Amino acid sequence: MDTVDFKEFLNEKNFCFTAQRLAVLNVVAKEENKHLSATEIYEALQEEHQGIGIATVYKTLRMLEQEGLLSKIELLDKTAHYEINDGAIHGHLICSKCGKIIEIRGSRARRSLELLQGDSNFAIQQGSVNLYGICEDCLRLQAYPV
Ligand SMILES: [Zn+2]
Ligand SMILES: [Zn+2]
Repeated sequence: MDTVDFKEFLNEKNFCFTAQRLAVLNVVAKEENKHLSATEIYEALQEEHQGIGIATVYKTLRMLEQEGLLSKIELLDKTAHYEINDGAIHGHLICSKCGKIIEIRGSRARRSLELLQGDSNFAIQQGSVNLYGICEDCLRLQAYPV
């Protein structure tokens, strides 16, 4: 979303445009920043020399999530991770040991959801499915501890 669209979006929702809000959104929008936690987003902003406090980061993330621009993924330890909400129904495999988040999208996500829907005649519009477990790397570490 570019600055003009973001300004309009905030306007419609009765929020003021601030450079800080835009900076938070832009950091989350970067592909390499997918699924970062609030603290990691804060650290990424510091690296970009954006003068922004952690409380503002938390508040902004909450607002952007409530307004539907971001979606939140909660790990088992309750830390929240964020991604841009592109409206696509998708799933996450979340490692409860190292916190890695593997994204499931496209036909794989669609096929799984069709199976879950079964014959309920329910038209899913949005949402995500989060499954918790242990990732390949952590499984290997368990089997062969260093
Ligand atoms: Zn893991
Ligand atoms: Zn995701």
